[in-house]
Amino acid sequence: MAGLGEGLDGFRDDRFHEECGVFGIFGHREAATLTALGLHALQHRGQEAAGIVSFDDEARQFCAERRLGLVGDHFNQEQVISRLKGDVAIGHVRYATAGDTIMRNVQPLFAEISLGGLAVAHNGNLTNAATLRRELVTRGAIFQSTSDTEVMIHLVATSRFRTFADCFADALRHVEGAYSLVLLTPDLMMGIRDPLGVRPLIIGSLDGATILASETCALDIIGAEFVRDVAPGEMVLVTREGMRSLFPFAPAPRRFCIFEYVYFARPDSLVEGMSVYEARKRIGRELAREAPADIDLVIPVPDSGVPAALGFAEGLGVPFDLGIIRNHYVGRTFIEPTDQIRHFGVKLKHNANRHVLRGKRIALVDDSIVRGTTSLKIVNMVREAGAREVHMRVASPPTIKSCYYGVDTPEDAELMASRFSLEEMRRRLGVDSLAFVTIDGLYRAMGEPARNSERPQFCDACFTGDYPIPLTDRLGKRETQLSLLDEGT
Ligand code: AMP
Repeated sequence: MAGLGEGLDGFRDDRFHEECGVFGIFGHREAATLTALGLHALQHRGQEAAGIVSFDDEARQFCAERRLGLVGDHFNQEQVISRLKGDVAIGHVRYATAGDTIMRNVQPLFAEISLGGLAVAHNGNLTNAATLRRELVTRGAIFQSTSDTEVMIHLVATSRFRTFADCFADALRHVEGAYSLVLLTPDLMMGIRDPLGVRPLIIGSLDGATILASETCALDIIGAEFVRDVAPGEMVLVTREGMRSLFPFAPAPRRFCIFEYVYFARPDSLVEGMSVYEARKRIGRELAREAPADIDLVIPVPDSGVPAALGFAEGLGVPFDLGIIRNHYVGRTFIEPTDQIRHFGVKLKHNANRHVLRGKRIALVDDSIVRGTTSLKIVNMVREAGAREVHMRVASPPTIKSCYYGVDTPEDAELMASRFSLEEMRRRLGVDSLAFVTIDGLYRAMGEPARNSERPQFCDACFTGDYPIPLTDRLGKRETQLSLLDEGT
């Protein structure tokens, strides 16, 4: 789910600020505890806030607990979990920039609509939320949060259909963007993936209970079995009678987010039937084929660069070693809200392992370069530690475009590869050589012969600028600016 910014009108900023993880379990007496554990395994998808909503069938009421901070900081306490009664629960972890971290945006969002109570957890980002919201506000809708998820809830609330499933199918036909949703009503848990299947959502099972989660690592933590991925455009309905599926949208070509494989998903997850860890290793091997280097050691930038570095080392037949040690008590560097802190954050997070690096010709392998802050710090660090030559290898193509479908990335103008040529980047980073895996190399690592430019097999907009879903809000903004300019002249 995404924040629509915090201007007075709530529209100042149509960019999402979030990456999220969702989880739901139907029919288990430890529902809340299992949800907390599942969210803990999904913590990498969002660290700023967490929430769980359960339904207590005996009292016929919903119970909700939402907190800012990590899952383990709040949902390990008996008094919090014990308030979440019932054998069904859904949960959400979210990342938001500081300005957006306000309690009313913390999910699952809850609403009472004419059909009854409804809780929604959303991973992804709607690209026409601001446009829809403006229309809804004009018609008298009152919003409590600045999140795009609430726009969806309003559309559901005003739908004329008679069941939750039909209302959602109706509402979502107006929505553009990426969404993997888990929702809960008094008698139903639903999982929905957008027609292109940009964000992941999987089904699991434990002791006869049905589970929905962003990634399979959330099943492993509770010893649940992986059943299958929710298909793009599929609506999974879980009730006391069992599970059934609806496909309410026009079929569309599948465009799963390739960046989930590059960086976002956990390496121990199976995503769309493919091991994230193996995929990353294969990217490393492609990189070794495409951009070999004459070096003594392959050094990963931990943790996200490790599998690709292993593949790169294997591909080159060069030893792999840990030349940088990561402090695990610091969150992801990127999460820090200001440039100054992010800058400082890298020092907090990584340290050079001097005796490994001294006098060596090394290849540093990271999964991606976004602003370039991490790479610059790491390169300086390994040089100071005595590395003789530093060759940087990146296990994704240059990130040239911002994501509008649920991965938090800076505006294009802040992306290093959008601002500078390869040679200019090399010079600025102070490395002896710099290479990125090509887009076809990345696709080969995904088991495809190459990127099909007519019909790309993944969403790779951050690397190609090919956005598969219209960016209506952004377009609207530009048109508004243009018309303002026209008026002024
Ligand atoms: P930067 O320092 O801005 O170049 O960011 C690159 C580093 O951040 C790499 O080491 C990546 O592992 C990591 N990274 C890439 N994309 C993201 C993201 N969307 N959220 C958090 N971290 C990221």
